[in-house]
Amino acid sequence: MYKRICIIGGAGFIGSNFIHYILRTYGSAIEILNLDKLTYAGNPENLMDVQSFPNYHFLQADICDGNYIRNALLEFSPDAVVNFAAESHVDRSILYPGIFIETNVKGTEQLLSVCKELWMEKNGTWKQNVRFLQVSTDEVYGSLGKEGAFTETSPIRPRSPYSASKAGADLFCMAYHITFGMPCVVTRCSNNYGPYQYPEKLIPLMLYNAFHGKKLPVYGDGLHIRDWLHVEDHCAAIDLVLQKGRIGEVYNIGGNSEYSNMHVVKKIIEILSGKYSLPIGEDCIQYVEDRKGHDRRYSMCFDKLENELGWKPSISFADGLEATVDWYFQHKDWMERALLRLKNC
Ligand code: NAD
Repeated sequence: MYKRICIIGGAGFIGSNFIHYILRTYGSAIEILNLDKLTYAGNPENLMDVQSFPNYHFLQADICDGNYIRNALLEFSPDAVVNFAAESHVDRSILYPGIFIETNVKGTEQLLSVCKELWMEKNGTWKQNVRFLQVSTDEVYGSLGKEGAFTETSPIRPRSPYSASKAGADLFCMAYHITFGMPCVVTRCSNNYGPYQYPEKLIPLMLYNAFHGKKLPVYGDGLHIRDWLHVEDHCAAIDLVLQKGRIGEVYNIGGNSEYSNMHVVKKIIEILSGKYSLPIGEDCIQYVEDRKGHDRRYSMCFDKLENELGWKPSISFADGLEATVDWYFQHKDWMERALLRLKNC
């Protein structure tokens, strides 16, 4: 088991869930350093409940700042680094591709370079039992038609500036592994949902609008399909790959829950109008102009992870979605404050 994990980008949606997961699962047996730039999507509030834990440490840091990262990592001396840090919103990558190259590609390479310095002995061998895990996405594989699923050997065919930058980061991890023997592993997962997701992504955005009596904007014909994965299942998979995955490998992570955006929005309406008696119906759905280059369908084959490490998702989409709606209903103030971060950043 890793004893000193540096989690990069741990104040965002998945990273903060992962920190909660690790602390819940391993208690004080693991020392955690969270390095995060705190962009609009990184929210210290997500980790308020753990900030006084003696084994949790936080530093505000930009992964593009090599010197700062080097000093922080030298001092903490991690045996594992998990990189969640990224600009993560496809729509923003269409507007501002430059920052996606900076953080997602150059920042990741910077981290790899610092870890190489940290973990590679003078004679070119690597410290024992160290590992770098890069958190990636199904989007690097491109878009599917009605049939088929991505496997780890599917060609990399990113179609948005976001997915192109994530593919670049994956390729750098693999290049560091092949060129220097660095103990890297890459996980690629499908669309996550759950608590602490910035209200620009589909599910929290729909909930935010519904809570404010606004229309629910759905791109194009609404029939774009994603494979929905509850963030808790994702955290368990990352932990497993970190502990037991083979280095130099890619592992797909999927939810076995392929649904169109329209289906997801209708289910949200069903929960809000039923359980919460909100005056909301399908007439609240508003079709808006499609996203440029919008990928039609993603589907993940995660047989490798299931067969090698015994992982499969445990939370059904119906249960996970209801729990997620409950969480946002109880955390409306969190949503308001999170949205303010974009204005203030
Ligand atoms: P997020 O946008 O919620 O969080 C990203 C975090 O990275 C934030 O805390 C932000 O402050 C931090 N960050 C951004 N730039 C940084 C920099 N230069 N230096 C240090 N920290 C920086 O993203 P998320 O949804 O939690 O995604 C986490 C990772 O998982 C990303 O790499 C993303 O590509 C990947 N991923 C996400 C999904 C999903 O459905 N959310 C699916 C597949 C893969």
